Amino acid sequence: MGGTKMSQWQTWFHEKQVERTIKALKKNSFEALFVPDSKAAFEEVMKRIPDGTTVSVGGSITLGQVGLLDALEKRKINFIFPMKQGKTPEEVHALIQKTFLSDIYLSGTNAITEDGKLFNVDATGNRVGAMFIGPKKVIVVAGLNKIVPDMEAAEERIRWWVGPQNAKRLNRKTPCVETGVCSDCSSPERICNINVTLRKKPSRTDVAVILVGENLGI
Ligand code: SF4
Repeated sequence: MGGTKMSQWQTWFHEKQVERTIKALKKNSFEALFVPDSKAAFEEVMKRIPDGTTVSVGGSITLGQVGLLDALEKRKINFIFPMKQGKTPEEVHALIQKTFLSDIYLSGTNAITEDGKLFNVDATGNRVGAMFIGPKKVIVVAGLNKIVPDMEAAEERIRWWVGPQNAKRLNRKTPCVETGVCSDCSSPERICNINVTLRKKPSRTDVAVILVGENLGI
């Protein structure tokens, strides 16, 4: 289990938590595996991407932290990265449409429940949409901090933790950026518009979940 600051009891707890979560994910027909750190996650993802394929990504802090976004730019692949800075809204939209035609889609996730579900909340839906339709293979990279007991805790994680931080990160003019607390706003700049739960493997998509023994993303 990666990370140097964990106590032995925390390490033990996380090992048990990861065991439960991987077992449940597999029961729901997802591929699931644990790797100890970001470096191992990087290698695990890179070896699953053959040269010549079309690979796309949604917005994800985790993928950047693991070093994949920079590395994929240098691979001999067709890399589609709509959220890369400096694109016009029209360019972003055109790339998002191409995302759905890619071979492999990489993503983080907002929460993983210990009973094996992936939960995500999105503003436009492109990130969550490509997790279940379009690309035949999806690879999700997630830190230990994304594991929650159940769906109630997953929704709470979004309201209490993820939503306000993402709104701040994206410079939105929403009430949560003023207060740090979600008020289930009606702001035109609201980012929490589409909730998607992958309860089981989507029929046309193989989803591999790589759990990393570190805290990653928000
Ligand atoms: S619903 Fe609105 S207030 Fe709540 S986290 Fe999302 S953007 Fe912020």
